Amino acid sequence: MHELGILYNMAKTVTKIAEENNIDNVTEIYLEIGSLKGIVPQFLDEAFPYVAGQFPCIEKAVLKYRVIPAKGLCDDCNAIYDLCDNEGICPRCHSRNKKVLSGDDITIVQISG
Ligand SMILES: [Zn+2]
Repeated sequence: MHELGILYNMAKTVTKIAEENNIDNVTEIYLEIGSLKGIVPQFLDEAFPYVAGQFPCIEKAVLKYRVIPAKGLCDDCNAIYDLCDNEGICPRCHSRNKKVLSGDDITIVQISG
């Protein structure tokens, strides 16, 4: 369950941001999660209270997130397509050569406190 590791990293980063901004108690954390990360939202929701309990400044925070679709740019025909829907294969020319444009990151969009 790699959601736990992702949440630990996120919690450390949020704690640092909160300290830099003099926020004692974060009330809300908003993430954007790339669909290539293979996150299972249910695991994220289940694991969050456990992780948050170990970081005093986010103990009472609510976790919100949205999943960002994975987009690729085909190296051979320049088509932009959804990597998950097409299993990483260009629907126009069937090439596997591509650049990943989005969907490979987890971004902390906003924290409130
Ligand atoms: Zn193509």
